Amino acid sequence: MSKKIGLFWLKDDFRIRKNLALIEATKKHNQVVVFYLFKKKKFEYQQAQSWWVGKSLEEFKNKLNKYNINLEIIKTETYKSFFELLFRKNNFALYWNKTYEPNYLKFDKYLSEKLIENSIEFKIFKGNILNELDVKKNDGSPFKVFTPFWKNAEKFYSEKIPQIEKKIAKCNKKVSFFNNTTNANQIFPKKKWFNKFQDYWLPSEENALEILKKFINKDIENYSEGRNYPNIAGTSKLSPFIKHGQIHVETIWEECLKFKKKGIEKFLAEIGWREFNHSLINYFPHMLKGNYSKKFDKFPWQKNSKFLNAWKNGLTGYPIVDAGMRELYSTGWMHNRVRMIVGSFLVKHLLINWQEGEKYFKNCLLDYNEANNVSGWQWVAGCGADAAPYFRIFNPILQGEKFDKDGKYVIKWIPELKNVPKKLIHKPWEVQDEKILKLGSDYPFPIVSHEEAREKALNAFKKI
Ligand SMILES: Cc1cc2nc3c(=O)[nH]c(=O)nc-3n(C[C@H](O)[C@H](O)[C@H](O)COP(=O)(O)OP(=O)(O)OC[C@H]3O[C@@H](n4cnc5c(N)ncnc54)[C@H](O)[C@@H]3O)c2cc1C
Repeated sequence: MSKKIGLFWLKDDFRIRKNLALIEATKKHNQVVVFYLFKKKKFEYQQAQSWWVGKSLEEFKNKLNKYNINLEIIKTETYKSFFELLFRKNNFALYWNKTYEPNYLKFDKYLSEKLIENSIEFKIFKGNILNELDVKKNDGSPFKVFTPFWKNAEKFYSEKIPQIEKKIAKCNKKVSFFNNTTNANQIFPKKKWFNKFQDYWLPSEENALEILKKFINKDIENYSEGRNYPNIAGTSKLSPFIKHGQIHVETIWEECLKFKKKGIEKFLAEIGWREFNHSLINYFPHMLKGNYSKKFDKFPWQKNSKFLNAWKNGLTGYPIVDAGMRELYSTGWMHNRVRMIVGSFLVKHLLINWQEGEKYFKNCLLDYNEANNVSGWQWVAGCGADAAPYFRIFNPILQGEKFDKDGKYVIKWIPELKNVPKKLIHKPWEVQDEKILKLGSDYPFPIVSHEEAREKALNAFKKI
C-alpha cells in the first residue's frame, strides 16, 4: 500500500462498479479522496444536466461514505487553473477515467505531461465505452458508415472482453484533502423548471441496474418494433444514466448476453451507434463546430426567431412535434423517434440551421452527450457521415398517424387536444367545431404548411 493519498478525478463516472480508476486508487491507497471540478460556465449551456449532476453528487457522496471515502466538490474557472494549484501539493497520486471527447483527450495529454514534469504519480483508465476508438478499417482509416463499423466493433469487443474487478475496496480512514470545497446544492439550477425532473428520474447506480434488468426481463423482446412508439415503454430510458456513468456499457453488454432473447441484438446495436458517434467526433472533430459534409456550408439556412421560439415552446401547430418538445421541457428527455421528427421539422420545414436545435437540446437534455447530439442532429439534417438523405423529409402528420395512432402520446403532452376525434388528432386544423377545439386560442394553427415547406426545403437543397 502506498503512503500517499489516492485522488480520483470524478467526471462522468458516478459508479463503483467497473470504475477502473477508482478501483485502482482504492487498491493502492488506504486513503482515497474523490474530487469533482465544478465549472459554473459549463452548466450555463447545459442547465438540465446540472440538475442530474447535483443529484448524482449528493447520492454518490453518501455512497462513498460507506467506503470511508470523501467526495469533495471544488469550484474552478478552468481545469488548467485547478491543476496548476494542485501541482503545488505533494504526497498524492492521481487517477481518472477517460472521456472520449476531443477536448478531454487533449487535456489528458497536457495533464500527463505536466504530471510527469512535476514527478507526480498518475494513471489513466478506460472510461465508459466498449472499444477505445480503436475500431478502424484494414487500411487504418476510421469508418464513416455505421454497419461495417459495428460489424467490426462487435467482434473486436467480444474477442477481448476484459475480466476486471467489479467494485471498489473500503478504505481504512476517511480523510479530507482540499480546502475550498463547495456543496452539491451550488450546482443545482436556479430555475423552478427542474423541479419536475424528480418526478421522472432517480439518478443512482442501483436504479440504473434495476432499470436495465427490468427492461431485459420485460420489454427487450419487443424492442425492434416497440422502440418506434413513443407512448409505450419501448426503449430502456437508460441514456442519462449512461451519459453520467451510473452504468458502464460493458455492464449492459454483460447483462444482455446472459439471456438469449429477441431484441438484444438490436438493442446492443444502438449502444453501437453511441460507439460509432464517439469514433466520428474524434476522427472528424470539425463536425463538432459545423457540418461534417462541407457541401452543407453553402446551405441557405433561414434566421427566424418566431419559428424557432414556436418550435422550442411546442407551439408549431403540429401535434407530434409539439408533444415532443413539451416532453423534453418537462422531463429532460425525448423519445428517439420524436427526436428525429422534431429535428427534421426544424431543419426542413422551418429551414433553421441544425446547430440551433443542437444548442437547445444540449441545454435541455439530461442525456446530452457531445458525440450523440452532434451526430444525431447531423443525421437528421443530412449533413452527417452516415446520415438520412436531406430529401427524405418526414411528414409530421403521417409520422404521428403511424407511430402514435391513437394520439395517446400527443394527448399526454398536449391535453388541450383531448376532445379532438382520434382521426384528426395529428391534423387538428381540420376540426370544424369550436366546442371541441378553438384553433388559434386553444392550440395554434400550423406555422407552416407541410406541402409548401417541403417544396421550399427541396428547392433549398437543390442549391447545394
Ligand atoms: C437529434 C438527436 C439528438 C440526440 N441527442 C442525443 C444526446 O444528446 N445524448 C444521447 O445519449 N442520445 C442522443 N440521441 C440518440 C437517441 O435519441 C437517444 O440515445 C435515445 O433516445 C435514448 O433513449 P433510451 O436510453 O431509451 O434508448 P434505447 O433505445 O434504450 O438505447 C439504449 C442506449 O443506446 C444508445 N442509443 C440509442 N439510440 C441511439 C442513437 N440513435 N444514437 C446514438 N446512441 C443511441 C443510448 O446510449 C441509449 O441510452 C439523439 C438523437 C437525435 C435524433
